[in-house]
Amino acid sequence: MASVIGIDLGGTNIRAGRVDSEGGIVRRANIPTEAEKGGDAVMDNIIHAADEVMDDTVQAAAVVSPGVINPYTGEAESIACNIPGWEGMQIGARLKKGLGIPGFAENDGNAACLAEAWLGAGRGRPIVLIFTLGTGIGGGIVCDGKVFHGVSNKVAEFGHISVEYEGAKCGCGNTGCLELYASAGAVRREARRLLKEGRRSLLAELAGGDVEKVDAKEVCEGVRRGDGLAVEILDRAMGYLAAGVGSLINVFNPSVVVIGGAMSLSWDVIEPRLMAGLRSGRAFAPIFADCEVKAAELGDNAGILGAARVAWQGTGRP
Ligand SMILES: [Zn+2]
Repeated sequence: MASVIGIDLGGTNIRAGRVDSEGGIVRRANIPTEAEKGGDAVMDNIIHAADEVMDDTVQAAAVVSPGVINPYTGEAESIACNIPGWEGMQIGARLKKGLGIPGFAENDGNAACLAEAWLGAGRGRPIVLIFTLGTGIGGGIVCDGKVFHGVSNKVAEFGHISVEYEGAKCGCGNTGCLELYASAGAVRREARRLLKEGRRSLLAELAGGDVEKVDAKEVCEGVRRGDGLAVEILDRAMGYLAAGVGSLINVFNPSVVVIGGAMSLSWDVIEPRLMAGLRSGRAFAPIFADCEVKAAELGDNAGILGAARVAWQGTGRP
């Protein structure tokens, strides 16, 4: 049975998987990225990880990476992670040279959306958006099984939708960006700030007594335990998220909006707040009626599976 290799380039680890045409991960390898050694060394590690899962059924390989990736040339055009010399890396060509099979590359947010549209929360649905709630907020758009790339492959910066006209200044140059209010990073910052102001709450105790260790995970756990401060923080963050998600539902008329990233693991407390915001008018009711909002289903496998899908599409099959 034919297969491909999907490779997920992370800041600390490179994860590779041999994947069949149904999306089954047949074999895995996991090796350190060694980002500090620079782009060439990282590329060698990628080849090494791929070699570990290689066999004679493999038709193609693809890497998913942060940053702007040209999916047509397989080049990293600019980079949003700490790998010196990654910018300009001809990922596709290096895969081909190192492995002797066609090589491809894609941005990680796009690949996560592609994976969810193939095998996860958006399976079999025509228009799928993903919001990835991490330190910031990433995004991706898949239409009819294909990534929507925009004119220069810089789709989809959902974290930089402005939801607060006179809001906080963002590193991107805009004000009031969604990721300043609704990301896991924003929830963490807000919790620590309010705790340092002396607000009474269970949150520090949930983090072992150290305010500097309070994270979005503790805030979600605080909500489950009825902690007033945690509820206040999450209500506000999800209100902002609803404003961002609702705006894109109105624009794209999608079948599914997938919520991914670390915070989506607390879907039990995220979902009711996000849905309440969307139902309150943040999403236009007739459009929202045709849209599902779901937690990501593929977890840590999204990178490998998204890369595999890119490789399969590169081969022209299935
Ligand atoms: Zn911004």
